[in-house]
Amino acid sequence: VVYLDYNATAPLRQEALEAMLDSLGSVGNASSVHMAGRDAASRVDLARQRLARLLGCTPGELIFTSGATEANNLALRAGYASGQTLVTTAVEHPAILEVARAVTADGAGTLVELPVDRHGAVKLAPLEVACRQGKVAIVSAMLANNETGVLTDLGPIIKLAHEAGALVHSDATQYVGRLPLDLNELDVDMLSLSGHKFGAPQGIGALFVRRGISMPHRPLLIGGGQERGWRAGTLNVPGIAGLGAAAEAARTRLHDEAARIARLRHVLEDGLRSRLRDCRINGDRSARLPGVASVTFPGVPADAVLAAMPEIAASDGSACASGAPTPSHVLMAMGLSRQDADSTLRFSLGYATTENDIERAIAATARAVADVRAAMASTAK
Ligand code: PLP
Repeated sequence: VVYLDYNATAPLRQEALEAMLDSLGSVGNASSVHMAGRDAASRVDLARQRLARLLGCTPGELIFTSGATEANNLALRAGYASGQTLVTTAVEHPAILEVARAVTADGAGTLVELPVDRHGAVKLAPLEVACRQGKVAIVSAMLANNETGVLTDLGPIIKLAHEAGALVHSDATQYVGRLPLDLNELDVDMLSLSGHKFGAPQGIGALFVRRGISMPHRPLLIGGGQERGWRAGTLNVPGIAGLGAAAEAARTRLHDEAARIARLRHVLEDGLRSRLRDCRINGDRSARLPGVASVTFPGVPADAVLAAMPEIAASDGSACASGAPTPSHVLMAMGLSRQDADSTLRFSLGYATTENDIERAIAATARAVADVRAAMASTAK
C-alpha cells in the first residue's frame, strides 16, 4: 500500500515504538512513591519535557489526554461560561464544531462560526463585530486545516480576542510536529494536539494551558486528581513515552522533513495536473501545510476513484470523521459546489513518504480517474 493518509493517522515512528516497548516492559504507576512508581514518573517527566521542547512551552503547562478530541473538549468547556459567546471557524474539525455547539447550547449562549474565503482564509469581520458586542468568552481557531492543509493566520485573531478580554484556543492537531511552533511567540492560551498525527501511537495527546491563565477546570474525568485535577485516571505511561519520543524525533528533523515533504507534494500536484488537466488544487498555495494536497477531479466521485485504486491510501474529504458520506463542510465553506466537494481527494504525505510512493500515486490516480470516467460514460449511454 502507498500510504498517503497522514492527516488521518501517521505510521508509528521507530523511536516511539522503542520507547513504548521499553515502558511496557517495566511495572509502576506514575503516582506511586516506591522505586517502580518513580521509574514510571520519570518516563512521564521525560516525555513532558520532550513535548514541551517541541512546542516551546514549559512541561508544567501540558496536560496529557487521550488525544485532540479530549483536549478540545477540556479547553472549550473550561474556557466557556454560560450566556457568553464562543467564536470558532466554519472549517474546524467536528472535534471543535460539535463541542462548540454543545457547550453554547448547554450554556444558552451564542456561537459564531467565522466564514472563510475561497482560499480557506478566515474572514475576521464577524469576529470584530462579536468582540465589539462584548461577552466573547473564548475564540477557537485551528492552526492548520485537516482537509486542505490551509494555515490560519492566528496573529490578528489573537489580537482581537485578547483586546476583547477573550481566551484563545487553537486546535493544532495537524500542525504540531510538521511545522515549527513556538508558544513563546504564538500567544494562545490553550492548544490541543494528538500524537498519532506525527508518529506517536493513537490514543494519546495533550492540552497546553498557559501558566497564569485563570479558568475553572471542568474535567471530563474526575477521580484521583492526576494532571493537576484536569484529567483523573492512571497515566498511560507507554503512550506518553511514545508521544515524548515522537515529539523528540519530529523536533530534531522538522526542517528537513518539512522541506522534503513539500518537494514531494509539489511533484504530486504537478504530476496530477499534467496527467489530468482539469483537476484543481484547493486551498491557499503558499499558506499550506507541506504535506497536504486537496485535489478536485470535476465530475468524478471521489469514493469511486478511491475504490478503483485500493493500493493507494488517500481519503475523500469526510474520511477524518466517521466515514459517513456527508459532503465536506470545509470545501463547501470555501465555495465549492456539493458535486465538486464530492469529487475531491485528499492526499496527505509525511515523514516516511518516498518519491516512489508519489510516482505510484500519480499513475494510479490518473488511471483510476480515467477508468471511473469511462465507466460513467458507458452507463450514461
Ligand atoms: N482536530 C483535527 C484538526 C483533526 O484533524 C483531528 C483528527 O483527525 C482531531 C482534532 C481529532 O483527533 P483525535 O481523533 O486524535 O482525538
